[in-house]
Amino acid sequence: MQEMTHYIGGEHVKGGSGRFADVFNPATGEVQGQAPLASRGEIDHAVEIAAKAQPAWAATNPQRRARVMMEFVRLLNRDMDKLAEALSREHGKTLPDAKGDVQRGLEVVEFCVGAPHLLKGEYTDGAGPGIDMYSMRQPLGVSAGITPFNFPAMIPMWMFAPAIACGNAFILKPSERAPSVPLMLAELMEEAGLPKGILQVVNGDKEAVDAILEHEGIASVGFVGSTPIAEYIYGKGCAHGKRVQCFGGAKNHMIIMPDADMEKAADALVGAGYGAAGERCMAISVAVPVGEETADRLIAALKPRIESLKVGPYTSGDDVDFGPVVTAAAKENILNLVQSGVDAGAELVVDGRDFNLQGYENGFFVGAHLFDRVTPDMDIYRKEIFGPVLSTVRAGSYEEALKLAMDHEMGNGTAIFTRDGDAARDFANRVNVGMVGINVPIPVPLAYHSFGGWKKSAFGDLNQHGTDSFKFYTKTKTVTARWPSGIKEGGEFNFKPMD
Ligand code: NAD
Repeated sequence: MQEMTHYIGGEHVKGGSGRFADVFNPATGEVQGQAPLASRGEIDHAVEIAAKAQPAWAATNPQRRARVMMEFVRLLNRDMDKLAEALSREHGKTLPDAKGDVQRGLEVVEFCVGAPHLLKGEYTDGAGPGIDMYSMRQPLGVSAGITPFNFPAMIPMWMFAPAIACGNAFILKPSERAPSVPLMLAELMEEAGLPKGILQVVNGDKEAVDAILEHEGIASVGFVGSTPIAEYIYGKGCAHGKRVQCFGGAKNHMIIMPDADMEKAADALVGAGYGAAGERCMAISVAVPVGEETADRLIAALKPRIESLKVGPYTSGDDVDFGPVVTAAAKENILNLVQSGVDAGAELVVDGRDFNLQGYENGFFVGAHLFDRVTPDMDIYRKEIFGPVLSTVRAGSYEEALKLAMDHEMGNGTAIFTRDGDAARDFANRVNVGMVGINVPIPVPLAYHSFGGWKKSAFGDLNQHGTDSFKFYTKTKTVTARWPSGIKEGGEFNFKPMD
């Protein structure tokens, strides 16, 4: 079993607190490593190093900083297979999906290569008599990020790439369930030319998080994870005077209108509902067919597709649709929620409860489940299950379907499947959800747009990546300048050679 490290001051450093978290291989159920859980003192040490290194990095011109990002992109591509394998081994997702995880992070790094352009300020020539006004974007200093287990490559990169491109130092506290890839990313950033101390990885749990939130030397905190923790971190971080953005859980609805192409809608739902075992914040977990006939057709199209999904370990190669969930506790929580749905009277059309994979009996595999006739009062509707479970809520009309998405407390993503441009346009305009797909089930915006939910899915007012991230990781300074009359008053105006 491997004892994992922190990455502090450009070195792999052993944990000093004596506390560790087990890191599992979810496919086999075996403990494959132990992640050290940092003490307050270890956080203090990392902040001290970051604060020392940051001014020189901020003074490095943005084009040079961008070149580090450019080289980092090359190294990510070079090590793609290695990163994906390490990611799948700790998370359980399939290898192609793990590569997607790295790729969607890499795209934000590519966006950050544009830092020199993105950091250009504003300028007003002649704001008054002899007065010019300009604003510049300056780094915050030391930023920290706290990330979830489900995208161990993408979400850390969504945070540290813009933070560092803007001239900040960054301390990453990744999920203690999947710490290997974040450590590898820090090494690659230094290989790409990043000075030591600008990106550090400190593993930990609540103790490390609280130390981050209370530390005077940390200017901003980014968080991605479940809603209760997002709410806690937002409140505490703000109370300690930090700039904070927190992205929480989800319950994404997909509305299927009677005129939708049912085969395409069913294919989209299967991918969006069960990909990565449903452990995606943009997974579709609620299908809302409009009208009884649409619902019957949808269930008929979904059932055979879901029953034929292949569940297995990432080592089976491309022949697997999704892998295990992350821990035994996650599996138990999912199965308890499924039972609560059955007890509440929902119809379990596809029952994955007895799923068992020969040779992997101790793995955290959960079979695919499909519920029909779910109602909004049920726990399986209200709570985020974060597993391979899709709930169908039948709506009598478009307005009823829209109201369901609107009334749910989560507002991360949503989608509508229809051939009617007017319905799609109305939905996109009215729904109170941050990211909307029209015949696109998982509308994750590309790197140059920004990512963020509404309602209880996000706290704070700026999104991840895109130009929002450059705003989040910088503060604006505005200068008003008036110069007294210069040499031009008594100067020489005749054209003559410079001598
Ligand atoms: P989590 O909230 O359990 O953990 C996230 C981070 O918070 C981890 O680094 C963890 O160590 C830390 N943490 C956990 N408990 C804490 C506590 N009591 N005090 C302080 N810190 C604590 O989330 P998870 O299980 O790792 O990830 C899954 C969740 O993340 C889901 O709810 C999913 O929807 C959400 N998610 C949201 C987005 C988004 O962009 N909105 C993206 C990915 C995942």
